[in-house]
Amino acid sequence: MTSSIVILGAGTGGTLSANRLRKALPDVTITVVDENDRHIYQPGLLFVPFGMAHPEDIVRPRGKQLHRGIDYRPCGIDRVEVEAKQVHLKDGAILDYDVLVVATGSRLVPEETEGMTGPGWMDKVFTFYDLEGATALAAKLASFEEGRFVVNVVDMPIKCPVAPLEFCFLADWYFHERGIRDQVQLTYVTPLDGAFTKPTASKQLGGMLVERGIELVTDFNTGEVDGEGGRLIGYDEREVPFDLAVVIPVHSGAAYVADSPGLGDSLDFVLTDPHTLQSEVAPNIFAIGDAANLPASKAGSVTHFEGEILVENITRFLAGEELDGSYDGHANCFIETGFHKAMLIDFNYDTEPVGGHFPTTVGVPLLKESRLNHLGKLMFQWFYWHALLPGRDVPGVTPEMPTAGKHLAVNSQP
Ligand SMILES: Cc1cc2nc3c(=O)[nH]c(=O)nc-3n(C[C@H](O)[C@H](O)[C@H](O)COP(=O)(O)OP(=O)(O)OC[C@H]3O[C@@H](n4cnc5c(N)ncnc54)[C@H](O)[C@@H]3O)c2cc1C
Repeated sequence: MTSSIVILGAGTGGTLSANRLRKALPDVTITVVDENDRHIYQPGLLFVPFGMAHPEDIVRPRGKQLHRGIDYRPCGIDRVEVEAKQVHLKDGAILDYDVLVVATGSRLVPEETEGMTGPGWMDKVFTFYDLEGATALAAKLASFEEGRFVVNVVDMPIKCPVAPLEFCFLADWYFHERGIRDQVQLTYVTPLDGAFTKPTASKQLGGMLVERGIELVTDFNTGEVDGEGGRLIGYDEREVPFDLAVVIPVHSGAAYVADSPGLGDSLDFVLTDPHTLQSEVAPNIFAIGDAANLPASKAGSVTHFEGEILVENITRFLAGEELDGSYDGHANCFIETGFHKAMLIDFNYDTEPVGGHFPTTVGVPLLKESRLNHLGKLMFQWFYWHALLPGRDVPGVTPEMPTAGKHLAVNSQP
């Protein structure tokens, strides 16, 4: 009998998994479900507020990214019945599956933070983490002339943990370009004890904030956003005043996960084995990307590296073979640093971002600002639509973190 794979979500992970599975398993039926038809290239959201990208440049129809022979169902998901191996859709349809892939990403929940979506929302308080927010912020920034400009991460985990820092660096560059940098006080407010999660990169990125005159406020747990009064209020009663705030809201998993008994943790992320990507709730359920509760970054690069292991393991599962437990948490990320430069970091579950080159002794520099890295960041959009989503293998770029070319002995445990 033909096996049936249902993939929930047609974003980065759902699309690349579906396309890779189509090639690897020509005889299975593959159905992909998503609640809307706008596939957004999310790294491009960073550039929209600064006029470096326009909304129409970063959105494509979802169905067109899926290869022929994949059944696309544009519909919301109501719940998963794990025991019955069924997905219930919002339109009342029921999909039976032999293998389920959860790729529904993470959800922004600004309403979780007191006051955030109250008075001042989309006037003095914005987010660039969705298209509506990034577009509205572009208009606001163009008319911002002076004052206290605050960038705040409410809580971890968030998608692309470096994006708020990149936003600060770009804001510094943007206000310089407009000749008003000395009239804008830039402050980065984070719940972490430094600029970033990984100590080596955190030290370097923290130093770069100082060099650019961006104040860093750490260990700040935002309890309330007072848009009208222009204040972030911490649970410890510290306050950070602002004229304009860019806030990265709390993230959770998709809402239907809470209605699918056993599937998720307290934040509705799917309980997942960090090395095989098989869920802990049932052997025929796998998770990829932001939806999984892994100790890896919620990033497109992570989702990409996971894709190869996921497809291998679904193939093995259907053949009754032992799973491949080799996913090492590999992540890499271009960090835009302003003034047409960027740097690259590469790390995994066990190894810190270190200096050297990627992907091997010859390649782009790691942990170092360069114009080449900035070009790499811009080029990545082409790579996303034409190589990553279609599920093409890229020579030299592997799911396992490469060690050649890295200064591992100096900074890190291999
Ligand atoms: C501002 C910003 C900058 C970023 N920059 C980078 C970067 O430079 N590098 C990098 O590697 N990563 C970056 N990322 C992160 C990256 O975009 C995500 O990690 C990646 O897209 C995750 O893929 P995913 O498939 O898990 O989730 P997504 O691509 O978000 O897809 C999830 C899909 O599930 C669907 N869905 C959710 N709930 C339901 C439901 N109930 N019913 C039906 N469908 C549903 C959604 O519509 C969506 O299509 C950035 C993200 C943001 C927001």
